[in-house]
Amino acid sequence: MRWEDFRASENVEDRRGEGGGGFGFPGGGAGGLGIGTIVILCIIGWVTGINPAILIGGAEMVNRPRQEERQAPDGAQRRTGPPTDQSGRFAAAILGNTEDVWKQVLPNQTGRQYTPTTMVLYQGGTRSGCGMARAAMGPFYCPLDKKVYLDTSFFKEMEQKFKVKGDFAYAYVIAHEVGHHIQDVLGILPKVQRRQQQVDERESNRLSVRVELMADCLAGVWAKNSDERFNALEPGDIEEAMQAASAIGDDRLQKQSQGYAVPDSFTHGSSAQRMRWFQTGYRSGQTQSCDTFRAAQL
Ligand SMILES: [Zn+2]
Repeated sequence: MRWEDFRASENVEDRRGEGGGGFGFPGGGAGGLGIGTIVILCIIGWVTGINPAILIGGAEMVNRPRQEERQAPDGAQRRTGPPTDQSGRFAAAILGNTEDVWKQVLPNQTGRQYTPTTMVLYQGGTRSGCGMARAAMGPFYCPLDKKVYLDTSFFKEMEQKFKVKGDFAYAYVIAHEVGHHIQDVLGILPKVQRRQQQVDERESNRLSVRVELMADCLAGVWAKNSDERFNALEPGDIEEAMQAASAIGDDRLQKQSQGYAVPDSFTHGSSAQRMRWFQTGYRSGQTQSCDTFRAAQL
């Protein structure tokens, strides 16, 4: 992805402390960001017996805010100005590009104005409107403070453990989280979350899968429009996204962690579904094509 030319977003809150360890860029060069979260989740899952795939889903959707954590953002370690390190610049560039694309695409396709989300970069842990954000939770979107939380310290492990690499694989993950923000702007997230409180766990998981696959599809819509407007994609980029989508499918993660998959417990969708929905969005470039709640088949 030609991200070096993207406008860096100003909506980045850099909470990474000084001297908190390297930023984990693979090879230290112009490689890519990663989402090694999952690796940490696997380790946690192995130690605690908790299924990592549930943690990933839980991080994104299920957390209830605690009152004291909803106020007083953690300002102690905040830096000002745009990030200057490679992974920070990358995250700011991708976020900036999603803003430029969605500011135009969302009103055109849905009649709604796009209000940007803020991305919080952190290392290890930080407060979020949805409770403590921890590296092990993976990147997530918090609807209560409208922010995307991204720990940049574990990026390279995604590459090492899951063999998923390439800047576009990581751009897809950011675009997926921005996709949740789009769902929020469109009023879909609050509706689904209300519904989830009224149903049993199985049904709640099913709703979660639809939300997640929609976010994958919206990432595809972004990719298509970004390419049309900014000539952003390079050969192999879509394959990178497909590999990432495949690597973080619930079935794949569950098989890796416990040897078998339990579809009723899926919260994000299978590898095949995640790849399919990203492609649905990418092929059409249309927000409307992402209505996973109307789709007869996921
Ligand atoms: Zn998600």
